[in-house]
Amino acid sequence: MAYLMNSPVHISVVEMPAGTELGADYVPSAKTIHWSPYNAVKTTNGVVISPATVLDHEADHTQQHLKHPEQFKKDTDPKTGKDKSYGDKEEKRVITGREQKTARKLKEIKPGQVTRKDHKGENIRVSGPTSTTPAAEEEAERLLREKKKAGQ
Ligand SMILES: [Zn+2]
Repeated sequence: MAYLMNSPVHISVVEMPAGTELGADYVPSAKTIHWSPYNAVKTTNGVVISPATVLDHEADHTQQHLKHPEQFKKDTDPKTGKDKSYGDKEEKRVITGREQKTARKLKEIKPGQVTRKDHKGENIRVSGPTSTTPAAEEEAERLLREKKKAGQ
C-alpha cells in the first residue's frame, strides 16, 4: 500500500456495495480497484481472508501494473499468461506471494497453512475491513452478550 500511496499516478478505489456477489478486482485500463470494506472472502480451502487482505491483493496487482507493465500484460494475457490452477500467472504471483504473507501477518492463516491454491472464493459479509467473522454471527454473539448482561 505504501508504494501506491506515494505513487504520482492516481489510483481510484471504488467501493462496492456490501453483500455484493462480485469479487474485488483491479481494472488496469481505468487504474481502478473495486473493493468493499464489508466483504471478506471464504476460499476453497475454507479460510476466510479479511477485506484488508483482499485490498492488499488488489494493490499488488496495481503495483505490478505500474512498475512492470510489460510483464503484467504478458501474465494477464489469456494466451501467454494462462495458468491451470490460478487462471493466469499474475493471479498465481499475487496469491502465492503477497496474499499469503498478508494473511499470515493478520493471523488469518497459521504457519504452514495457505489461503487457497486457486483463484476462487465466495463473499462473506463482515462488519469491517479486518474482520473475518460473518456479520450475522457477530450480531448474534452481540445480542447474546447483551442478554447475559441484562440477566435474561
Ligand atoms: Zn487478483
